[in-house]
Amino acid sequence: MKKQCTKCGKWKELEEFYRLNNQCRECAKEYRKKFYAEHIDERKEYRRKYRIEHIDEIKETNRKYRAEHIKEIKEYVKKNWYKYADKQKEYGRKYKIEHAEEIKERNRKYCAEHAEEIKKRGKKYYAEHADEAKEYELENRAELKDGYIRNGLNKSYGIKKSQITPEMIQDKREQLMVYRELKQLREAINE
Ligand SMILES: [Zn+2]
Repeated sequence: MKKQCTKCGKWKELEEFYRLNNQCRECAKEYRKKFYAEHIDERKEYRRKYRIEHIDEIKETNRKYRAEHIKEIKEYVKKNWYKYADKQKEYGRKYKIEHAEEIKERNRKYCAEHAEEIKKRGKKYYAEHADEAKEYELENRAELKDGYIRNGLNKSYGIKKSQITPEMIQDKREQLMVYRELKQLREAINE
């Protein structure tokens, strides 16, 4: 038995129609493809809105799912970690930017609450690595590395390290280079 497609007008076997559909499968597929392409932005917008409006439900559903499938998820990630490595990095980078204030606040809090411990740890570490540290410092000084200049700006001018920009470091580096050259010149003259 044959039926005529209302779209392309061809007579085709019944199996070539989806049930109760007057367009043949081929035309129906074509139509669906076109429809999806034309409404892609709407769908994206719809999904975006939906996510915002249902964020709590979504989070809860995800949380439940994770809790119930934690073993499988861990197993899967373990096997497929390399697929996530780049995404993870990208995610971490984004997270750091978007939550900069939050992270700062958390660090500040942690440092305030653990000040003694951190100090002790730092002292102990420094004592154990004093020689290396000295060497490292000399090297940084000789090469005018960022860390050395940042320390200098912090100590000499009281500028908070977090407020020191790469431009400030570069300016100071250039200034120091001029000083050093002048010093060498003076020494050469005095010899
Ligand atoms: Zn057709």
